[in-house]
Amino acid sequence: MADLETAEMDVMVEAPALAGHAGLFPPAAARIGIEDWLTQELADAGRRVAAGPVVPRHDAAGFGDALAGFDFARPRELGGVLAWTIGRLEEGLVQITHPRYFGLFNPAPSFPAQCADRIAAAFNPQLATWTTSPAAVAIEAHVIRAIAARAGLPEGTGGHFTTGGAEANFTALQCALAACCPAYAEHGARGAAGAPVFYISAEAHHAWIKIAHQAGLGRAAVRQVGTDGTGRMDPAALAAAVAADRAQGALPVMAVATAGTTAAGMLDPVAAIAAVARQAGLWLHVDAAWGGALIVSDRHRALLADLAEADSLTIDAHKWLATTMGCGMFLTRRPALLAEAFRVATGYMPSQDAARDPYVTSVQWSRRFLGLRLFLALAVAGWEGYAAHVEHALALAELLRRRLEACGWRVVNASPLAVLCATPPAGAPDAATIVRRVLASGAAWISTALFEGQTVVRICVTHGTTTADDAACLVAAMETARAAP
Ligand SMILES: *Cc1c(COP(=O)(O)O)cnc(C)c1O
Repeated sequence: MADLETAEMDVMVEAPALAGHAGLFPPAAARIGIEDWLTQELADAGRRVAAGPVVPRHDAAGFGDALAGFDFARPRELGGVLAWTIGRLEEGLVQITHPRYFGLFNPAPSFPAQCADRIAAAFNPQLATWTTSPAAVAIEAHVIRAIAARAGLPEGTGGHFTTGGAEANFTALQCALAACCPAYAEHGARGAAGAPVFYISAEAHHAWIKIAHQAGLGRAAVRQVGTDGTGRMDPAALAAAVAADRAQGALPVMAVATAGTTAAGMLDPVAAIAAVARQAGLWLHVDAAWGGALIVSDRHRALLADLAEADSLTIDAHKWLATTMGCGMFLTRRPALLAEAFRVATGYMPSQDAARDPYVTSVQWSRRFLGLRLFLALAVAGWEGYAAHVEHALALAELLRRRLEACGWRVVNASPLAVLCATPPAGAPDAATIVRRVLASGAAWISTALFEGQTVVRICVTHGTTTADDAACLVAAMETARAAP
């Protein structure tokens, strides 16, 4: 590709060749040349991505051959390898930074979050302990406190940044087990007075299945409680499932309410689930990995008022809060349980203080400075700026709903968030065919999902700068796809 060759040549001109050992730790002047080029080239690549197809043009066989050429026996020049990588990623990804990516909860990252990654990469602080990185650990703790307060959790709520929602949810299960069985931390499930089981809805995220396995409880420990026909957990079915498990000698430990389901953006009835959980002595976790972002909006956060009932809460920063991946948050009103679940003593770590050393209160040991992304973004945008971001998505989802309904589509989920589950008008091809055709057109990225037993076209507004024109373009692509022979 001519573009790439030119780009490689620019690097050659601006910076000395960097390869071999010299390429690992070049002097500052050489780095600046490469970094300046990289800044420019990534901006150009972003423009090319936005103007191109959302779907990959990846040639897997050809790419395999190219990769095989990297046998690592012969060092290559850094500038060339960087240009090669950018070019291949332009062709070889679903472009989640494209304004017509209406996909899963993957955002185009905010600019402050990207700046945070550069800073973290330069200092590479180790956040395992406060002792080694007091400034970085304090910044993360400050953001966690601010998010906890915004979510309505009480003062004294603890928590930390995670790699994502799956790690945060795993942490919730550890806290629930520690709360329910004092012997769990030492003896595991063997120390429990019955086989531990926990409850999610049939529309909950499937990370829970892996979490049950990781925790050593086994996948069979997950109870998928029925929904009410609108994608929300049925609290009566939850109460019945808990009673049935108790009658059979199992040990119910946790109920999970989802605030923003994956397929359809539905909010489980948190208050009713909380009442069942309290009555049955269960830990209440609210999985708001995506939907939790709505707490930033004064206009809409009443929808999440019941988050305040949670014993623990997951909110991902790398979803609707638009940080780079992966960046999640775990919060709990009972932080002492984190120390119980994850405590450890060593002779080589500089400190082991549950009040401020993340490695003794969380899954990770070595820890990247993830929280800087949300700190910078919040510092720059404020709640108000972030509110404009989520409200923009809500407004566009509403616009899409109206446009699709005007064309005869039916939106079958009543989500207050920015996800639409649509079924085509009578006589049209099925949802899967329409999605396949839209992807083949390259115009936009949407997906299929199973919602309450029905295959639907799933559309989620995730990109901060998607416009009404982009929405119109998506509707046009869907209409073309359904009209095609
Ligand atoms: C995304 C998501 C998860 C999994 O989180 P990751 O960040 O992908 O690890 C869990 N639960 C819900 C509700 C989610 O939206």
